[in-house]
Amino acid sequence: MRPGRAPFKLQSQAASTAGTYALFAFLWILFSDWILAALVSDLRLLSLFQTLKGWLFVVVTTALVYTLVHRHVAKLLEAEAELQGSKERYREVVEGTDDLIIQVDESGRLVYVNHSSHRYFGLSPSECSGLSAFDFVHTDDRERSREWFQHCVENRTRCDNIENRQVSRTGKITSMLWTVNFSYQFDGSFAGCRAIARDISERKKVEQALHENLRLKSEFISTAAHELRTPLTAVMGYSELLMKESELGAFSPQQKAEFIATIHEKAEILTHTVDDLLDLSRIDSGQRVPLEIRPCNLIEVITKAVAEFKLRLPGRSFQLHLSQDCLQHCWADPGRMRQVIENLLDNAVKYSPPQGDIAVACAHHPDHCRISVTDQGIGMSQEQVTKIFDKFYRADASDTAVGGLGLGLSIVRHIIEGHGGRVEVRSEVGKGSEVTVLLPHKHLKSVPEGP
Ligand code: ADP
Repeated sequence: MRPGRAPFKLQSQAASTAGTYALFAFLWILFSDWILAALVSDLRLLSLFQTLKGWLFVVVTTALVYTLVHRHVAKLLEAEAELQGSKERYREVVEGTDDLIIQVDESGRLVYVNHSSHRYFGLSPSECSGLSAFDFVHTDDRERSREWFQHCVENRTRCDNIENRQVSRTGKITSMLWTVNFSYQFDGSFAGCRAIARDISERKKVEQALHENLRLKSEFISTAAHELRTPLTAVMGYSELLMKESELGAFSPQQKAEFIATIHEKAEILTHTVDDLLDLSRIDSGQRVPLEIRPCNLIEVITKAVAEFKLRLPGRSFQLHLSQDCLQHCWADPGRMRQVIENLLDNAVKYSPPQGDIAVACAHHPDHCRISVTDQGIGMSQEQVTKIFDKFYRADASDTAVGGLGLGLSIVRHIIEGHGGRVEVRSEVGKGSEVTVLLPHKHLKSVPEGP
């Protein structure tokens, strides 16, 4: 039974019962004396029967009244229980939700707030009562929020999907999405509103991350163009010189050899950049960096990479520390391991001053092999360290003098994780960095010494 319909139903029932009773009483009064007079001729007996008839009437009407009142009270109790249940269900919905539900009076003061006030306002519902709803809006969003509120009231529209930030009394900031229903007096003036707001902080974080990713991507495209153009310009310049026979005679054989060496060196840089881009596209499409796991002489890989850097950068100091027990052979992709070591060395060179030492160490531990590259360079803050494995991230993107696409470490991590290992970074601003690669033994199964 719906609570709103109960009174009418009860009323009609009461009316029909009263009507039946009135008819019965009328017929009784009309015919009972007449029937009694026809049946009983003795006056004393007639008087006795009439008294008995009166008592019978009282008993019957009392029973009738009792039945009626009893039925009526039972129905009222049933309706009240129904109403109570419906109130309880409503309370559970309103108080059980994590959404914020508020009611505001005509002066903009809170008259009702559900229990979520604790979460978003840092106050209990009763403490919120009488405070201005705008008190909790972030100062940067307050003016804009007042404007849309005003706009909706002036245009008699409902507000849907309005976003702002709420600041609780404890300083917690929550991004909220609002739906507001306004009510008005008969004269059209604002009478208050009821509003429901949902916490969209998580969605906002995802949107910001997406936005940041897009920004990094567009920054990456211009960096990539720069990284490709610089070596290409050198390749073009030197190859043009070598192609002009008229000018070629002016150069000594040693100079010509230097031109060719420079072209080769720049072509190598281009190859590395293109390889990084190909790796990036694989990683982006959810694929693993392809690995050819086979017996790999890790010591040889490290020694060769360091020797090459020494040759290329004679002015720099590279130190190699190989522990005695370091395994000569392990299961790994030699080409990829070379790529990893070169990348770490390249970063150590790029981000440290020319006089700073660069140390490469390899040590064997019970369950893993540890390779580390340490420099005495500019170092990084802890916040920067948490981001360096992100694609496109460069701590100082404005410094175009230091080349790089912000991909190296991201690819290094994919390669090492592909081997079942991990990469760790320790760094201090102004003191230097240590990047450590830990390769687990499942890929370090000893293999017979290679030929
Ligand atoms: P990039 O090609 O830009 O060097 P990486 O992925 O190799 O890309 O490195 C990401 C960022 O991490 C670099 O731009 C740099 O800011 C920081 N970084 C990496 N290695 C070092 C290091 N040894 N010292 C200081 N900063 C470093």
